[in-house]
Amino acid sequence: MNVNDSEILAGILEREGYVPAEKMGKADLILVNTCSIRAGAENKGLWFAHSIKSLKEKNPNLIIGLCGCVAQQEKENILKKMPFVDLVMGPQGIDEFAGLLKQIETTNDLRLTTNDKGYVTYFKEQACSTRKLPVKRAKSPRTYVSITFGCDNYCSYCVVPYVRGREVSRPMDEILAEIKALDKTIHKEVILLGQNVNAWVGGLANLLREVSAIAGVEWINFMTSHPKDLSDEIIAAMAELPQINHYLHLPVQSGSSKILKAMNRKYDRDYYLKLVEKIYSKIPDITLTSDLIVGFPGETEQDFKDSLSIIRHANFDSVNTLMFSPRPQTAAAALPDQIDGPTKNARLLAMMEVVENQALAKNQQLVGKTLDALVEGPAKDGRLSGRTRGNKIVYFDAPLELLYQIKPVKITSAKSWVLEGSISSGVG
Ligand code: SAM
Ligand code: SF4
Repeated sequence: MNVNDSEILAGILEREGYVPAEKMGKADLILVNTCSIRAGAENKGLWFAHSIKSLKEKNPNLIIGLCGCVAQQEKENILKKMPFVDLVMGPQGIDEFAGLLKQIETTNDLRLTTNDKGYVTYFKEQACSTRKLPVKRAKSPRTYVSITFGCDNYCSYCVVPYVRGREVSRPMDEILAEIKALDKTIHKEVILLGQNVNAWVGGLANLLREVSAIAGVEWINFMTSHPKDLSDEIIAAMAELPQINHYLHLPVQSGSSKILKAMNRKYDRDYYLKLVEKIYSKIPDITLTSDLIVGFPGETEQDFKDSLSIIRHANFDSVNTLMFSPRPQTAAAALPDQIDGPTKNARLLAMMEVVENQALAKNQQLVGKTLDALVEGPAKDGRLSGRTRGNKIVYFDAPLELLYQIKPVKITSAKSWVLEGSISSGVG
């Protein structure tokens, strides 16, 4: 979501006549687009913002903007503690960014007063449902199109509803127009984005059918799916429409029903495993990945074991393992029985090992098979790097002219996080 937001900010800057600086020291404007999902991400953004403060001392005309979820969450603190920042704007401010930029540009006093602290600030609790803004897309065969903004689910650990506002769905015609306008010589795979795309108001299955009908869209993905809203219609559309990748990221968050309840996820272990069983029966070659949080308040050894066992029972290809991080305003941050740091660390390491072993075992099952790969670019070792329809990275020797093309690759070996393969010499 942040990558997509940054591409929109870059698109607006380009439209307003800005060009990328050769290096940061030569920039007239620097925007730091922050993420606040966990304390680590938040600190990274704030640290980076502090690290560019010295550039402002050298060039007082430099405009520094702090954007994204940390800006929304920490607005008062940033206003107080970071006087070198000229623009503080939450994620919903993107719609107004061009106007804010004009305000900053057209005053000699960069500390333009829009509030009594003397900064340009823009915070809106609620995103607009429509967003017809330019997007400066990375030159990548996979590209993002937002279909929902915000979230209504209020999982007890999660800051998103507080910083990105209530859930709204973008209208179908606007989404389809954005996809039709994509440069299909580069962008072969469209990833429909939202915090819970399954709740898109017009029915995600209907949208998938419409997107599939657009000429030049070869592969379609969507993320993220909330298990409680993954309908039979969506599963049927995935099974039926050839453009939709057989890849699903379905965050479970915990394998313990007790913890899932405390997380306010609105499903239990049994529901999740039955859902997964249904998905495997309709789409046997599905690649299934998930998110699991360790160290949620009150998580016992048994709850943690339940999380480990769901990795095997759901037969995940891979899992993002996350250590619980108490976030401002969230209910879980105030729960008793917070788990101590060493226990959280130990659980995270143990889970990472289980995930790594299972990822290896699942990848090894692919050796000898021929899979389509979308060529993304050169790998570090000089070979080409591509992604399979199951979102797995694969390296193979082939000429660079194959960039942005879909080619069959025979898988020759497998590691946990990468496959290796060969492309037949006649291909291309
Ligand atoms: N909307 C998606 C869903 O419900 O699955 C997830 C979006 S969230 C931006 C991405 C992931 O961050 C979540 O799936 C969760 O595992 C993780 N996450 C969110 N809040 C967290 C917290 N306070 N501590 C640790 N991980 C967290
Ligand atoms: Fe956060 Fe839950 Fe919404 Fe996902 S569904 S963004 S985890 S509140």
